[in-house]
Amino acid sequence: MPSPFRIRIDLRRLILLLAMLSAMVMLANGFHAAYRVQRDLLVEGTLDANEAYAAKIAATTDNYLRQAQRQLAYGAAAVAAASRAGNAGQVATEVERLHQQADFFNTVSFVDARGTVRSVSPAGLSLRGQRLDSKGAVEALEKRTPLISEPYTSALGNLVVVMSHPVETDEGRYLGYVAGTLYLRQQNVLTQLLEDHYYRDGSYVYVVDRARHLLAHPDPLRVGTRVDRNAVVDRVLGGGSGQQRLVNSRGVDMLAGYAYLPTTGWGIVAQRPTAMTLDRLDSLMLDVLRRSVWPAVITLVLVWLAARLISAPLGRLARIAREMDAPEAFGRIEGVRSWYFEAAQLKRALLTGIGLLQLRIGRLRQDAQTDPMTGLLNRRGLEFEVDTWLALGREFSLAVVDIDHFKQVNDRYGHDAGDRVIVRVARLMRELSREGDVVCRLGGEEFLMLFPGMSAEEALHAAERVREAVAVADMELGVPVTVSVGIAVWPRDGKDFEQVLKAADRALYRAKEAGRNRVLAASGEPAVDRVDA
Ligand code: GH3
Ligand code: MG
Ligand code: MG
Repeated sequence: MPSPFRIRIDLRRLILLLAMLSAMVMLANGFHAAYRVQRDLLVEGTLDANEAYAAKIAATTDNYLRQAQRQLAYGAAAVAAASRAGNAGQVATEVERLHQQADFFNTVSFVDARGTVRSVSPAGLSLRGQRLDSKGAVEALEKRTPLISEPYTSALGNLVVVMSHPVETDEGRYLGYVAGTLYLRQQNVLTQLLEDHYYRDGSYVYVVDRARHLLAHPDPLRVGTRVDRNAVVDRVLGGGSGQQRLVNSRGVDMLAGYAYLPTTGWGIVAQRPTAMTLDRLDSLMLDVLRRSVWPAVITLVLVWLAARLISAPLGRLARIAREMDAPEAFGRIEGVRSWYFEAAQLKRALLTGIGLLQLRIGRLRQDAQTDPMTGLLNRRGLEFEVDTWLALGREFSLAVVDIDHFKQVNDRYGHDAGDRVIVRVARLMRELSREGDVVCRLGGEEFLMLFPGMSAEEALHAAERVREAVAVADMELGVPVTVSVGIAVWPRDGKDFEQVLKAADRALYRAKEAGRNRVLAASGEPAVDRVDA
């Protein structure tokens, strides 16, 4: 039993569906691939840019620092000379000149060997005469070498980094040191350098010293604090430069480039949050989508056309196959253009099938129209022929033939012998008829012969030949068998077949009445009236 829920989908839709599905998978796949490529490109590009950027800043900063050290060394020599000459004014001038010329430090000062500030620029600072005991000051006095300190809070309460150079006479007597400070939380040469290159798109640069202290950072509150648990800081302070994606100490995914400053052992890190870098992906992917809409539409249209082309012959064959018994089915199937193998095979199979079917139908029709015992047409077969003549208006004669005293044949010789007589009479009638004549068994031992285009007279002669042939034939009964015949003509003896048949029947009745074994026509006297029995 067919389920009402079973959906029958046709080939065209099936192909379309399949094509759309695969197009969608391909599109999604392509989209995903494009997304990954773009993402990797963006990440790589940002990493490269940040690496180059960090390297550039490192080179510039290193250059600044070397220059600053050279100027401190030069200033130290000048201060030494002025100091030995006992010229305090000259010392102050040298300190002032160093501050102005270098344009690197927030303050410059000369501290003597006991740690007392002897001269300071800018002059407004209230440091002169003060003894310094800060970490940087103590270290400078102790080491008596060029130094760059760690960040610490200065005597004036500023977070500073101090660069110092010892002041010694030509003879090597230690007079103290000159120091330049950088105020980390205020404008300084580092912040200026970094701000110049500051991106607005979330990128930023920071500087760490050897002990992981932040010397410069866009967030002023973080300046001076330590950076722990940061892979890039580990690397850059190991003396390397390069690029790395990392999750920083604040848990933010970053794309970082880094470079090492050999002069000071500091590290420069340029980085950008990965999320901000990938923000552009959305618009990029939208662009990809926009560009793939037209090709997708065109592809779908092509697929739709192809689906029609492929399904058309099969669809037509399927529709015709539903009415295979129609007489024009064969021609219709032949008209289907099957341009590919499967359709051609199917078409061939259908043509073969339809041929067999029609042969079968023909045989069935023949069976239905034939009398099995004599092989003559039966009444149904007869009507088909007669209808054609009537429709064409073609004149014809007919003869009703009835075996005489057939009951007696049956009674005396048996029913089988009777059958044999019927078959023989039938054969004689067929043998004596022309091509185009129709011989049929109306029932029992009664036959009908139809002579298209024959006049009553010609029909009488034809019937007479049959009568004679039967009368002289050996029916293997030991006695002869005779027939009586009634003749009528269409349209002379009746306007339709039934009337003509009745007229012939009446003629037959008269023939029987007249003594049997004779032929009588419906109108007038028989042309031939011979009794041989
Ligand atoms: P009549 O000369 O007046 O025609 O006499 P009849 O005995 O031939 O009479 P009728 O034509 O009325 O009889 C037909 C008989 O033919 C009746 C039936 O028993 C017999 N019959 C009919 N069909 C068959 C058949 O197929 N085979 C045989 N053996 N007998 C048949
Ligand atoms: Mg009869
Ligand atoms: Mg009879």
